[in-house]
Amino acid sequence: MNFLPTEEQRLAVEGFNRFLETKLRPIVQRYQPDKLIEKERMLEIFQLMLPYGMGGNGIIAEKHGGMGMPWLTYALMYEQLARVSGDVAISLLIQQLGAYSLEVCSNDAMRDKYLPRMLRAEIIACSGISEPGVGSNVAEVTCRAKQDGDHYVVTGEKTWISNGHYSDFCMVVVRTSDDGAKGLSMILVDRAEHGYESRNIDKLGLNSTSTAQLFFDGVRVPAGNMLIAPGAGLKSTLVLFEKARPMVGLTSVGIAQAALDKAVAYAKERRQHGKPIGAHQLIQGMLAEAAIELDAAKLLVYRAFNLIDHGVRCEVESAMAKCYATEIAVDVASKAVQIHGGNGITKDFGVELLFRNARMMTIPDGTTEIQKLIIGRALTGLNAFS
Ligand SMILES: Cc1cc2nc3c(=O)[nH]c(=O)nc-3n(C[C@H](O)[C@H](O)[C@H](O)COP(=O)(O)OP(=O)(O)OC[C@H]3O[C@@H](n4cnc5c(N)ncnc54)[C@H](O)[C@@H]3O)c2cc1C
Repeated sequence: MNFLPTEEQRLAVEGFNRFLETKLRPIVQRYQPDKLIEKERMLEIFQLMLPYGMGGNGIIAEKHGGMGMPWLTYALMYEQLARVSGDVAISLLIQQLGAYSLEVCSNDAMRDKYLPRMLRAEIIACSGISEPGVGSNVAEVTCRAKQDGDHYVVTGEKTWISNGHYSDFCMVVVRTSDDGAKGLSMILVDRAEHGYESRNIDKLGLNSTSTAQLFFDGVRVPAGNMLIAPGAGLKSTLVLFEKARPMVGLTSVGIAQAALDKAVAYAKERRQHGKPIGAHQLIQGMLAEAAIELDAAKLLVYRAFNLIDHGVRCEVESAMAKCYATEIAVDVASKAVQIHGGNGITKDFGVELLFRNARMMTIPDGTTEIQKLIIGRALTGLNAFS
């Protein structure tokens, strides 16, 4: 085990941080606390980040036009992005994993049609799994894809879709037969070519990025857009969850780091009882607890990406990273609000926004409870899902 970043990783993070502080922070501050960044602006931001491998191109293989970065290097940079803007980070997370899905789970025709434009940050992807009646149990998906000659007709509604309102295409989990989880498949639906509607959702936090409902009303999609053969089920996409979950955890790590940075700065500056509040033992205790939680979360996330880089399956380690990092981020951000006293609950100091953003992340990509069931299943050999 090596706890030191390589020289390459250190330089990559340093260079990206300079960009984040000088270029990205001024842009995103214009949209805070709760204004949606327009699609064109989000694409411009991705384009600005492309040279760093952070515009959706980072972990895509060089032979497919990407930078072929190791996941851990990408993750260390992504953590910094999440520290500066959780909203842009979430949008990029979906975009990057969308590109990666096209690379590893798609057919050549779909990959060649969509991936190059994604790698130039010209179009935005989203992933449609959840429905109004279907959340934690994906096997219950109802959105239908019914074969009609050389087309599928897609009918149904998806909800909570990150990047949904921005999206040029959606990789939609659909039901092709009534055969439970085996009857699920994934089809690429193009907004311009096939047509679907979206409605943006107003949320607790992360309102500068889009989360949307998507409506598929008998949309005719060529059979060639089916990314996974009907009957194959979604097993091949499980490797995506292993990568998505620590990445969601890392989003929380970035948000929590921003909250802790603000708390430390405020504790050194604000004076009560004749000295900076940071000189009071109970405030130091809160800061120390937050720092320990944050470091432990980082180590869990880095371990998951280290295993991924070594090609080792890590469903449990990914679940642990996602579960712990998203939960402690809520605690760290809450402590930051407490340390700010009355100022903490105003819009002027930024910690209330970080608290709201942190609170969102225990839900997507498998709630905390679902991650615990995955870990519990591995520990006991007993499946609490069924
Ligand atoms: C910020 C954000 C972004 C998202 N982005 C996307 C996206 O891009 N694409 C997409 O498809 N979806 C997305 N989602 C949806 C997300 O994946 C679902 O919200 C999540 O899977 C939970 O589903 P649900 O909301 O229907 O809750 P439910 O499944 O209804 O769960 C409600 C509660 O019951 C608990 N619960 C459920 N089953 C069990 C069980 N067996 N044992 C114990 N407790 C249980 C849950 O933990 C939760 O506390 C996003 C959600 C959020 C908040």
